[in-house]
Amino acid sequence: MLTIRLAPGKENRLQAGHPWIYRSEIARIEGTETPGAIGRILDHRGKFLGQATVNPACQIAGRLLSRDEAPIDDAFFERRIRQALTRCGRSASGPDACRLVFGEGDHLPGLIVDRYGDLLVAQFLTAGMERLRETVLGVLRRVVAPRAIYERSDSSSRRLEGLELRKGFAWGTGETGVWVQEEGLAFFADVAAGQKTGFFLDQRENRQVVRRLAKGREVLDCFCYSGGFTVSAAGGGATSALGIDLSETSLAWARQSAERNGLAASCTFVSLNAFDQLRAFAREERRFGLVVLDPPAFTKGRDALEGALRGYKEINLRAMKLLAPGGILVTCSCSYHVDAPTFLEMLRSAAADARREFRLVELRTQAGDHPILLAAKETQYLKCAILEAVN
Ligand code: SAH
Repeated sequence: MLTIRLAPGKENRLQAGHPWIYRSEIARIEGTETPGAIGRILDHRGKFLGQATVNPACQIAGRLLSRDEAPIDDAFFERRIRQALTRCGRSASGPDACRLVFGEGDHLPGLIVDRYGDLLVAQFLTAGMERLRETVLGVLRRVVAPRAIYERSDSSSRRLEGLELRKGFAWGTGETGVWVQEEGLAFFADVAAGQKTGFFLDQRENRQVVRRLAKGREVLDCFCYSGGFTVSAAGGGATSALGIDLSETSLAWARQSAERNGLAASCTFVSLNAFDQLRAFAREERRFGLVVLDPPAFTKGRDALEGALRGYKEINLRAMKLLAPGGILVTCSCSYHVDAPTFLEMLRSAAADARREFRLVELRTQAGDHPILLAAKETQYLKCAILEAVN
């Protein structure tokens, strides 16, 4: 049995509810250090704190699975997954497409499970979860009873854990292209070829906000991917909705969704670089009633934060200048290294440079089926500010 003894004082964060143990906080490891093995975590006096998957090669060397001594087996995963299924913002009869397991937020670090109708998509992101893969797949089959489970363990973060990337059906077979129903609109998602697990489930509630605000407005959706915001805006009565993205493949999915909802007449999708196009629109003095900015994470590390903030400021500043009087900016960041106060500060600075005054209508976050641990700010990664131009 693997035992991890923490250095003095390093138990505090764990005891406050945070699930991570950094490599630098470990005083001693007793037992064989197989990457991802389950270890008992003790404070420096030998008091038991919980069980964690341990990968001493990683900076985040331990991820807490439980705070008791019950074995990490089928029954453990069944309890955790059943709890996750009934958590606030989720239910068995809930949204057609939703996140069933959100890693740390559901006390299952390293595991993501999304449901697309009767198809599950799973990601095993750490050496610890990788070792528990068969158990997890078995429990998912029994508890959720899907038609198939597709695996998207192809996130580059797996390399930090010493794992190869893997993608394909983990169980069952069938179509990987699915139609997701959301509040009366249909969206196409390809769980094999799409980004992440196929669709941005974390933006579900923010899509509804855009839908509500879009009526009668000309909408620009930058970094539109498969058109989630664009089609929602058109569905909400936007006069026109223009989605731009670099990826032709995702634009083809977006067009399919617009078509399926009978919104092809108001939606246009063009393959463009958002940075360049925002500048071009500014030159043309184009104006929009609502602009959505939902770029990819500009930084995956703390070291690149400054450059990332420059990128965020640049697109926000340009988008602010394009707004018609009373226009609305819906602006997002999914980098967890950029926390909400930093994001707002960046927006203040962009607004000052744009010489425009805004009301902060709402500061939103990820959908409720991506639960946030109060003690672990990393679990709140999505920021979505709704700004209204005062004039
Ligand atoms: N808003 C989307 C998700 C965006 S994901 C939704 O709600 O579904 C980020 C997208 O940005 C990806 O589709 C990627 O192709 C695109 N992208 C990345 N860099 C870009 C750039 N410079 N210009 C335009 N699109 C870009």
